[in-house]
Amino acid sequence: MADAVDLIRAKRDGGTLAEADIRWLIGAYTAGTVAEEQMSALLMAIYFNGLDRFELAAWTEAMISSGERLDLGSIPAPTVDKHSTGGVGDKVSLILAPLVASCGAAVPQLSGRGLGHTGGTLDKLESIPGWRAALSNTEIVEVLKATGCVICAAGPGLAPADRRMYALRDVTGTVESIPLIASSIMSKKIAEGTSALVLDVKVGSGAFMRDLGAARELAHTMVELGNAHGVRTSALLTRMDTPLGRAVGNSVEVEESVATLRGDGPPDLVAVTLALAAEMLWLAGLDADPVSALSEGRALATYRAMIAAQGGDPDAELPVARFTEVLPSPGSGWLRRLDARAVGVAAWRLGAGRARKEDPVSPSAGVVCLATPGEEVIAGQPVLELRSDDRARFERAQEALRGAIEVGSQPPEPAGIVLERIR
Ligand code: URA
Repeated sequence: MADAVDLIRAKRDGGTLAEADIRWLIGAYTAGTVAEEQMSALLMAIYFNGLDRFELAAWTEAMISSGERLDLGSIPAPTVDKHSTGGVGDKVSLILAPLVASCGAAVPQLSGRGLGHTGGTLDKLESIPGWRAALSNTEIVEVLKATGCVICAAGPGLAPADRRMYALRDVTGTVESIPLIASSIMSKKIAEGTSALVLDVKVGSGAFMRDLGAARELAHTMVELGNAHGVRTSALLTRMDTPLGRAVGNSVEVEESVATLRGDGPPDLVAVTLALAAEMLWLAGLDADPVSALSEGRALATYRAMIAAQGGDPDAELPVARFTEVLPSPGSGWLRRLDARAVGVAAWRLGAGRARKEDPVSPSAGVVCLATPGEEVIAGQPVLELRSDDRARFERAQEALRGAIEVGSQPPEPAGIVLERIR
């Protein structure tokens, strides 16, 4: 019989854990017989000493087995999902799910809420009056069958061990561990029941992984885990140094997503969405053209159907903030840098994000980028528009933006948004 203290000591001293021990540990933790302080110590030992590929496979399997698996077997189309490791202004899911569905796939997007400086897809969609994130498993399947896509909250029955462990990692400084991140993300996606998955691993100042090498390692680890569990998985590494598109917040990002679905999207957002769509369709074995699905309005029609199927009114006015302030350009020349993390933190401080998971978010708060890197600006020209319903929030948001805008005499090097593809 395994003992938690023996397993902690083994991992602390650089040993490996047996599959049966891992299975016992995660089961006992979920049942409450392994204490939070013991799991904290073990997580810290893993943070320092890692998990080898056999331990990681067993760990992920145990996390999946801690709960239920969604059965999407009755869906007639190939299922394919996307997961992003999180970025500033990352509203891709809102466009991509209906786009890929309008090309013939079924997209079950079980999503989370935002925590920290990156926003959450559910928080964005909740700015639409009437829209519901919490669906039963039966409703998920019904919406998928009716519209080809669903974006909703992952229910409490899916990988419950991860739910507790992620909250524990958040308060014990053990989030930033590649095997722990990979098993956390992949256990939820595998339990969701999708047949294929594309990972959008963000790299840069606004991302979890600021460094290309670490992002690459995370992507390889997740691709291998997915494929080992029978989920056809690939990854794109994409740039996250500057906000994606021009809108950062909740209702402002919904507006920008709808504009993109109408064919009027910012080039970086359109490029990353189409690259992910092509990858998803390839994994799903579908030969369809996402460019025409977007330009001919089929993706927009699917989006409207999905919003309505989840109780939302796609024609409703979205909340608009009561107050705005602008941040001017510090000089004249080329806008060379607009720091994603700083803009994300500013939007968060304006009320768009939450500090603790039970905090409410403001639907209307956020930041709109009036100029983006590569554009010419003159001194004093507004570069950012800050929005909030609470005037007291502007000062701290402005503080976050100190040094975030860089203007120079030369334009920045043109850079593609997709850095690498990992299959
Ligand atoms: N997102 C997750 O779901 N888990 C992690 O560990 C990190 C990001």
